Amino acid sequence: MIILDGKKLQNKIALEIKEKIGGYISEGFVVPKVAIIQVGDNKESTLFIENKKKFGKKVGVEVLHVHLPQSVEESELIKEIVSLNMDNSVHGIIVQMPLPHHIHRERCIEAIDPSKDIDGLHSKNVKAMWVNHEGILPATTRGIMQILDEYNIDCAGKHVVVVGRSSLVGKPSALSFLNKDATVTMCHSKTPNLEFHTTPADILIAAAGVPRLITAKHVRPGQVVIDVGITIEEIPQRKAVGDVDFEEVKGVVSAITPVPGGVGPMTVTALFLNLLDVYTRVIKRG
Ligand code: NAP
Repeated sequence: MIILDGKKLQNKIALEIKEKIGGYISEGFVVPKVAIIQVGDNKESTLFIENKKKFGKKVGVEVLHVHLPQSVEESELIKEIVSLNMDNSVHGIIVQMPLPHHIHRERCIEAIDPSKDIDGLHSKNVKAMWVNHEGILPATTRGIMQILDEYNIDCAGKHVVVVGRSSLVGKPSALSFLNKDATVTMCHSKTPNLEFHTTPADILIAAAGVPRLITAKHVRPGQVVIDVGITIEEIPQRKAVGDVDFEEVKGVVSAITPVPGGVGPMTVTALFLNLLDVYTRVIKRG
């Protein structure tokens, strides 16, 4: 059984990104810059932003943290997004989710310049995925693909089962696998008899946000399992738990991502790969 090590891959790709950026800067190009907009003080968001700042520092990207109060009006937030769109020194924009209830998520995403939307959530980037054109892939989906590539796991012709249909993870991942010639099944909370669908999979993507949902009965020998889920459990001590019961499943399948240390670090990494693509496009255009 192989542990698909996202942390190790993150370190490897971080070096590659740093080297590329260092090269461009020594040629006289500007330092790449990403703006992260946070609204309010959601603890998880603050932690995710800290991780992005740390990674940015490691690879030589300037991270601008725009922190707005929980009570900010949607129009104010959109004004901030538009001003970052027009700022040529900013190459990528992230609006950290979740947003407070009084703010319309989709309107804010649509306000981002699609060419700076390194989260890949703008409808223009979503459409690019639908028609199998090059757009910006959502970071978690790109992170999953990077892990599979690293371990030479080809998905063409394979049966991929995705548990979860969110527009952030499940749907873009399913579509991306389809674009890579996999045969895809999608499951969700109303899917009866989940194991009937998951067991035959060659590659199983668990993205439900339900801790330990996938147990030994949901998998089979030879399967590759990618655990996207992250739930923070406080008892008996604070720890991150995946959607897969790792201890049960690891004895059955042929490869699995751990939580933590699997998809999580690769999501951050993929975000910066998206930024590097955008930045490279901008500086090459001149
Ligand atoms: P979400 O928006 O809550 O979507 C969860 C999806 O799972 C929904 O489609 C839901 O079905 C389905 N689901 C819920 N319970 C289920 C069950 N018992 N059986 C089958 N399907 C079920 O969550 P998300 O944003 O996609 O995130 C999913 C998980 O990934 C969370 O734990 C999140 O923290 C984690 N995550 C991790 C990363 C990372 O970097 N590792 C990045 C993003 C998200 P319905 O549509 O029917 O409700």
